[in-house]
Amino acid sequence: MEPTTDEVSQNMFNCQLCSLSTPFTYYGQKPPNTRAIVLLEECFVTKDPFSPDRERFLILGSNCSVCHIPVCVGAGCSIFYTKRFCMQCVNKHMDQFPSQIQDELAKKKRSSKKGVS
Ligand SMILES: [Zn+2]
Ligand SMILES: [Zn+2]
Repeated sequence: MEPTTDEVSQNMFNCQLCSLSTPFTYYGQKPPNTRAIVLLEECFVTKDPFSPDRERFLILGSNCSVCHIPVCVGAGCSIFYTKRFCMQCVNKHMDQFPSQIQDELAKKKRSSKKGVS
């Protein structure tokens, strides 16, 4: 008999800033079945469902290093700058990021509009 735990013990990753909700298979810095990969941060990781390669995996998100909420790696939800920061904390502590990062974020915000001069 195979254990049928697929619905109950499924670990779910829920981004607190967008409505992303997806199962993850591993949380940490060294995903299993990977040869020499060590991630820069502890991440929520899932196997890449679209790849036959067993070493392929996707990083879903991570916990914000400031407020510790889980956030996805989407550009609108978090950035990685030495550590993971959710957008809430980025906006709160914007002045503590280097101007290069501030510029990049400003660009992203503006990207829907055109005519930057
Ligand atoms: Zn998100
Ligand atoms: Zn945060």
